[in-house]
Amino acid sequence: MQTQTFERMESNVRTYSRSFPVVFTKAQNARLTDEEGREYIDFLAGAGTLNYGHNNAHLKEAMIDYLASDGVVHGLDMWTKAKRDYFDTLNELIFKPRGLDYKVHLPGPTGTNAVEAAIRLARVAKGRHNIVTFTNGFHGVTMGALATTGNRKFREATGGIPTQGASFLPYDGYMGEHADTLDYFEKLLGDKSGGLDIPAAVIVETVQGEGGINVASIEWLKRLESICREHDLLLIIDDIQAGCGRTGKFFSFEHAGIKPDMVTNSKSLSGFGLPFAHVLMRPELDQWKPGQYNGTFRGFNLAMVTATAALKKYWSNDTFERDVQRKARIVEERFQTLAKRLSDNGMPATERGRGLMRGIDVVDGDIADAITGKAFEHGLIIETSGQAGEVVKCLCPLTISDEDLIEGLDILEKSVDAVISGR
Ligand SMILES: *Cc1c(COP(=O)(O)O)cnc(C)c1O
Repeated sequence: MQTQTFERMESNVRTYSRSFPVVFTKAQNARLTDEEGREYIDFLAGAGTLNYGHNNAHLKEAMIDYLASDGVVHGLDMWTKAKRDYFDTLNELIFKPRGLDYKVHLPGPTGTNAVEAAIRLARVAKGRHNIVTFTNGFHGVTMGALATTGNRKFREATGGIPTQGASFLPYDGYMGEHADTLDYFEKLLGDKSGGLDIPAAVIVETVQGEGGINVASIEWLKRLESICREHDLLLIIDDIQAGCGRTGKFFSFEHAGIKPDMVTNSKSLSGFGLPFAHVLMRPELDQWKPGQYNGTFRGFNLAMVTATAALKKYWSNDTFERDVQRKARIVEERFQTLAKRLSDNGMPATERGRGLMRGIDVVDGDIADAITGKAFEHGLIIETSGQAGEVVKCLCPLTISDEDLIEGLDILEKSVDAVISGR
């Protein structure tokens, strides 16, 4: 495979191509094909961007029809039929059945654009600068969002400019199983000399994706919501990775029965891997003045066409979410078995996750790399996350066939066994 072109021309900043140094040509649902015709099962799926699989036939057809009819592809944020259809579908299939009432802000098309917009609006709406965020949180790498992102690797890449405007608090479980980390938050809020600038908002992932598949408990999320209500803080759920069905519900916060003031979505929002992001906000928070926040790519019509098709296909009833939950149980059981096998062989490991956002924490980043490296040799694309890359994480397409799911898990098992016997 010819890779010199990339090595010569592509910046060192590249990441995933280092773990999977082949040249891909085709992709279909949970399978990728490289230039030599070798097939791989994809448990990475665009880091949660391809919940409905690669080249989903249903979404592709909607997009091709739209293009064939000369539908508007780019229109800044002008009104288009594609946008109206998307808003109507979002309202009918997602908001109404869940008793939600949100306005939609279309910022630029990436996740970090949505986070920037949400935290800025929170500051404008509340007249306070500070944002509370949590250890191991990942919210993007542009300056505002970066200030709320924990990982030092990204934080140190600003060229020395300090990130500002956020305070970190311990996420659920950070201080061990028996500490409720919200005790600390509540104490700080009530302590005039605790050192915490009263925040405008709290931003949180219900399951931390990049941070290592850390799962906030339902009780913790409920308590966080009530602390926010009591202290007049906005609750922003960053559902960029955990949303769009990943945890088994459309929004990851549905499990906790909470109603955030704002929600950020991106990654699988278009359903097809097209760039698309939005911020959902309670209507009274919409204090933007016309044009106060702009961007050239606000609401990419093609992405709204595929997003609408995805909502209609998968979210008109609960068949899809039940299927996700069924597959999640398969992965959970297999991961528990693998974690036990690793532990029995002197490599302590635990399984965790919610829905099809699952991981095996093997404590040591080198062990995790050895497992994912072996997996790639055997034809499985799977990545790690966590502060030291110590969590092997499964983000397979939610639409994966049972055969591919089992085959991928079998490869992972073989890889774990190879790492155990290589020690
Ligand atoms: C990926 C991600 C982001 C950032 O999205 P980009 O499109 O990479 O800017 C923000 N928050 C969460 C939870 C994410 O997983």
